[in-house]
Amino acid sequence: MTADPIYLDYMATTPVDPQVADQMSGYLTQQGVFGNPASQHCYGRRANVAIKQAADHLATLIRAQPREIIWTSGATEANNLALFGAARFYQRQGRHIISVITEHKAVLDPLRQLEQEGFRVTYLTPKTNGLIEVQDLISQLTRETILVSIMQVNNEIGVIQDIHTMGELLRERGILFHVDAAQSLGKVMIDLQRLPVDLMAFSAHKLYGPKGIGALYVRRQPRVRLQPLLYGGGQQHGLRSGTLATHQIVGMGEACRLTNQYFDQEYQRIRRLRDRLWQTLQAIPGVQCNGDLKQRVPHNLNVSVAGVEGESLVLALRDLALSTASACTTASIEPSYVLRAIGVSSELAHSSIRISLGRFTSEQDIDRTIAVLQQQIGWLRSLTPFEYEG
Ligand SMILES: *Cc1c(COP(=O)(O)O)cnc(C)c1O
Repeated sequence: MTADPIYLDYMATTPVDPQVADQMSGYLTQQGVFGNPASQHCYGRRANVAIKQAADHLATLIRAQPREIIWTSGATEANNLALFGAARFYQRQGRHIISVITEHKAVLDPLRQLEQEGFRVTYLTPKTNGLIEVQDLISQLTRETILVSIMQVNNEIGVIQDIHTMGELLRERGILFHVDAAQSLGKVMIDLQRLPVDLMAFSAHKLYGPKGIGALYVRRQPRVRLQPLLYGGGQQHGLRSGTLATHQIVGMGEACRLTNQYFDQEYQRIRRLRDRLWQTLQAIPGVQCNGDLKQRVPHNLNVSVAGVEGESLVLALRDLALSTASACTTASIEPSYVLRAIGVSSELAHSSIRISLGRFTSEQDIDRTIAVLQQQIGWLRSLTPFEYEG
């Protein structure tokens, strides 16, 4: 009998919080609230009330107005709607877009498609700590630039970009700013009353909510216009047609409410666990942390283990459910493009692991993780002696 590996992959997805699942189950069956939220009768109105309440919970968490929220099927769709929507609406003002090579595929792939449609995209390269130099962004702006898209928290290395400073400089110049915040919601405080950001993408399943639901924040003041991706019943101001998925939206709303409630306590607890883990990992020769350690969410560690083959490392760490590149790219044998972009060698990128912690990570999980890592890396090193030059 073998126990399940310890779950250390919260940046790939999170389990649904039991309170969230409980709420959702009230919005499906005949006994629950099942009406179409667009219907005029009381079945519809009840569903509509629940959706309004969910929008309030998300809006409270990010300090926005509920009417600035567009529900989508996830952050992938939210990013697509933001990028295609803004690029196509504003293309007469210019066809130049700026982004970063370490973005998630849900941003990079739509941008590739926009390039096919005749837009020009400049991709910034971060410094070796994973952070963008604000001056680099400014120097790439042209009179044709209509849109900049930069993620707040990187899904592989957890670094936090200074979107506040960037947003201020872009606002002054009248350039739209889209931020993929799938990994920042619940991990950093987001205050859209102060953040000069025009569009922001979120996902529920990185936040103890269900998969298949997310949202796009679309600023009202100054007003941002988008061309829709989907046409149909005209729901959500015509920006995203389709019957609203009441149970999913209620789930995301409840996840936001809980996050708001737990934020400080959860943040401190996860930081202590991560710091303890890093203290021991740091002491192992040849182990390096990828991405800035300070400008980073406490939920993430990304480490390379020098002198150990990638495949052997994966096998040796099978008691830990963690990511060996990005959850979304493990199907390919290419090492992480994010690590390569910040100057990690191909060899070292192959022997890198992403450890991500969350709400249900316990002290015991971390004790056990530390023991496994020390033992297994030690064992691998004893097979191929490692010369540490330090
Ligand atoms: C998970 C993730 C996405 C995609 O979100 P889905 O809701 O799964 O579509 C986009 N961007 C980042 C940074 C992510 O971590």
